[in-house]
Amino acid sequence: MQLIIFGAPGAGKGTMAQNIQKYKQFSHISTGDLFRRHIKEKTDLGKLASDYIEKGLLVPDEVTEKLIRHELDMIRSDFILDGFPRNIPQAEALDRILQDFDIKLTACVHLEIDPEIVIERLVNRMSCQDCGAPYNLVIKKPKVENVCDECGGKLTQRADDNEETIRHRFETYRAETEPLARYYENKGLLMTVNCNEGILTKLDQVWEDLAALED
Ligand SMILES: [Zn+2]
Repeated sequence: MQLIIFGAPGAGKGTMAQNIQKYKQFSHISTGDLFRRHIKEKTDLGKLASDYIEKGLLVPDEVTEKLIRHELDMIRSDFILDGFPRNIPQAEALDRILQDFDIKLTACVHLEIDPEIVIERLVNRMSCQDCGAPYNLVIKKPKVENVCDECGGKLTQRADDNEETIRHRFETYRAETEPLARYYENKGLLMTVNCNEGILTKLDQVWEDLAALED
């Protein structure tokens, strides 16, 4: 089974990818992890990518494509691809790569969520700057305001957990990544999961849908 996963910011893509792995022994191909590994092992692709990253530039699509091509060439198992494609040109590149290796996609898992839900969750999120314990001002308040229950450390908010940043991330996602839903729908591969109620409530449904694809 060959899957792609993509989703709105804060929908829970990492959690879903991990849980889909429990359904079957999937190889989780994450572009973030791949880049970190290649950079650490100083491969040619790693050196190429770190040239861009050190200059504060985005890694160009063609470098990411090479990385994915290299990985899919070696893989001989079920996989879930996470972080690629992020836009239509990358999806078209992926089609060419899959065709070259004679691999057929089984489905594309698309996580959708209402931005207002993400904003409410993230702006209420805090963590301890000493021990990292997570808090939420609505559902998991500390006993004393701004103080960690576990260690007495100070609670802080991540700088990018603010409404403006989150809305900006959604705009970018809508413009660049969300068109993938139509692209894969036209191929009959789209599996949309609404995450407004929390992603964990959807796992049984996703597993059932995956099982149905195997019949
Ligand atoms: Zn703490």
